[in-house]
Amino acid sequence: MIGEISLYFHIPFCSKKCPYCHFFVLPDQANLKEKFVKALHQELALRLPLIEGKKIVSIYFGGGTPTKLPPKAFQSILEALPPLGSDVEITLETNPEDVSLPLIQEFKSLGINRISMGVQSLDDAELQTLGRQHSAIKALSAIETIQGAGISNLSIDLMFELPGQTLASWERTLARLTTLPIAHLSLYNLTFEPHTQFFKKQKALLPRLPPQEERLTMLESAISHLTAIGLERYEISAFARSGAYSRHNTGYWVGRPFLGLGPSAFSYWEGERFSNVSHLGKYAESLQNGAFPVDFRETLPPEKALRELLAIALRLTCGVNLSTFSSLPLNLQATCDQLIQRGWLYRQGETLRLTSQGQLFYDAVATELV
Ligand code: SF4
Repeated sequence: MIGEISLYFHIPFCSKKCPYCHFFVLPDQANLKEKFVKALHQELALRLPLIEGKKIVSIYFGGGTPTKLPPKAFQSILEALPPLGSDVEITLETNPEDVSLPLIQEFKSLGINRISMGVQSLDDAELQTLGRQHSAIKALSAIETIQGAGISNLSIDLMFELPGQTLASWERTLARLTTLPIAHLSLYNLTFEPHTQFFKKQKALLPRLPPQEERLTMLESAISHLTAIGLERYEISAFARSGAYSRHNTGYWVGRPFLGLGPSAFSYWEGERFSNVSHLGKYAESLQNGAFPVDFRETLPPEKALRELLAIALRLTCGVNLSTFSSLPLNLQATCDQLIQRGWLYRQGETLRLTSQGQLFYDAVATELV
C-alpha cells in the first residue's frame, strides 16, 4: 500500500501578536513575506524527493495567519507539489478580520476545501482581553461568509478559562453557536506559556480566572452543549459533525508521518522527529546554502515511541485497537492495568479507551504512559 502522509506549512505572519500566543510569529511586512516565500519554495524543493511516491492525504496551512499571504502564494506552493488526489483535505487557517467573500472564493478555486478560523470567544470583552483583532459580530459574519463562498467544512477554535470569563458569559458564547454552520470545533483552555505577555502578567491575571470548581463546569457545559447541537466529541479537545473529523489532525493522533515546512515547523518522518529553526534569517540562510533548516532531531527508542503513540492515540474517544500495536511490553501493560484500576482507562476486548474521568485527567494519564 502506498504510504499515506500529511504536509504542514507554517505561515508565521500576524498583524499583531496575541498576548497568550507562543507560536513563532512575525510582523505582517512585505519584505519578510517575500523572503519567507522564496525560502519556503527552496525548502519544498529540497523535501520533494521524500514525498515522491507517497499519498498526500492532507495539507494544512497553519500559522500565524496564513491569509496574510495572497492566494497566488498558495497557488504556487500547491502547483509545486506532485499531483494531488481529488480527496485530499486542504485546510487554511484564518482569522475573522481577514475574511471576505472574494478572498474565500479565490482560495476555494485553488482547491482549499477546509477553513479553520480562530474565533476564540463570542464575547467582545473576552476578545479584547485576548488581544484579538475581531469582534463577536465580525466572527459571526465571517462564518456566514465562508459558508456563502461554498466552504462547508469550517472549523472554529474556542477558548475558555479566560481572565474575566464567567460561566454565564461562556454559556452565552456556547448558545450563539447553536445555529452556526460549523462542521468542527477545537476547544482550548487558556494556558500560560513561557515567553508570552500573559506569562509575564500571570500575577495580575490569575486572580481574574474563573474559580477552579467553575472550570470543570465550563468544560462539562461545553461538552453537553456541543453534543446537543450535533458536534460529536471525537478527540479530547475536538468536536465534529458526522464525516467532518479533521483528517489532518487525526494523522497526528494515529502516528501518520508528516512533514512540516516553514520556520519552527515540526515533522515526524520515518520514526524521527525534527523541527525547523524558529528564526526567518537562519531559516532562509540555511536554505540558501542548500541545507535543511533543522535545529532539533530525535529518534525515540522503540519502546518510548510505542508509549508515546499509545498515549496520543488515546486522545481519540473511539480509543485504541490494541491489535494494531505490536505487543505491549510487560511494564506498559502493567501501567495500563493500574490506570484501569484507577478508573481512568477501560478495556473492552481489544479496545482501550479513556473513561470520562480519564478524559478529565488526560495529562496525568499521558504522563504515566510515557
Ligand atoms: S492570531 Fe493566532 S498565531 Fe497570530 S498571534 Fe494571535 S494566536 Fe498567535
